Amino acid sequence: MRVIESIDDIKVATGSARCDGKTVGFVPTMGFLHEGHLSLMRAARAENYLVVVSLFVNPTQFGPNEDFERYPRDRNQDVELAMGAGTDLLFIPRAEDIYPPDDATRVVVRGLSEKLCGASRPGHFEGVATVVTKLFNMVKPHRAYFGLKDYQQTVVIRRMVEDLHLDVDIVTLPTVREADGLALSSRNSYLSDEERRSARCLKDSLDLAERKIHEGERQGDQIRGQIRDRIGREKLARIDYVSVSDPKTLDEVSQISGDVVISLAVYIGETRLIDNLVVKVAA
Ligand code: AMP
Repeated sequence: MRVIESIDDIKVATGSARCDGKTVGFVPTMGFLHEGHLSLMRAARAENYLVVVSLFVNPTQFGPNEDFERYPRDRNQDVELAMGAGTDLLFIPRAEDIYPPDDATRVVVRGLSEKLCGASRPGHFEGVATVVTKLFNMVKPHRAYFGLKDYQQTVVIRRMVEDLHLDVDIVTLPTVREADGLALSSRNSYLSDEERRSARCLKDSLDLAERKIHEGERQGDQIRGQIRDRIGREKLARIDYVSVSDPKTLDEVSQISGDVVISLAVYIGETRLIDNLVVKVAA
């Protein structure tokens, strides 16, 4: 595995593979790698000649009062884990190269970016769409891999790829979870033991909602209410949002008549966690 920091070097390395007719698979991450990230790398490994992983804690997707500074970082461990998952090129760009002082361009996916996490974190998806566009232009992958853990992100990226006619296939993979259901996240490292126990309420409430829908509940508000009640029982938990929405448009659903995505953002202590579940409903 080669570690590459320069944009010119990554362009040459992936460009020559592409010219030779070899496929390039790309996994963008913010590092502090865990099994969720590794599952994406393994899928990329299985489907492509060259596997490129990026590590970049992207400043523009964090709000002014968010955790950019204290976001967990462990470069040495990430190098080991990425290598173990079969990565060929580990791209660790410098922030000043991605965002030079005269950088002035942003990518905005209107509508979808303003819902759910976008409503709580204004500018977040603009930062995501911008950095992913920049990385796609540097790596020029045939396929790029994203986790459904960040469901809204996958919807925003797919929209962007279609609207900008980008030549990349977006591959999405299921959320990897701890034994008790908690979705793996780099931010789980912020949780105390007590908070970690309380964090189960996210997946528990998603499971409860799925069960109610399978039992025949069709009122979106009933489902939202059940989730709020379950999470409300945890004294360390504070709800940011609870959503039952259309999986494509992310519009809230009042009467469930087809598949829905249930999405949550919940503060456990100071740590904001997200999770979601797509529930299949025969129309
Ligand atoms: P991040 O480093 O948090 O920006 O995540 C990088 C990629 O890994 C994104 O596509 C995430 O959706 C994905 N990812 C993060 N956590 C998980 C997880 N628990 N299961 C599957 N994919 C994940």
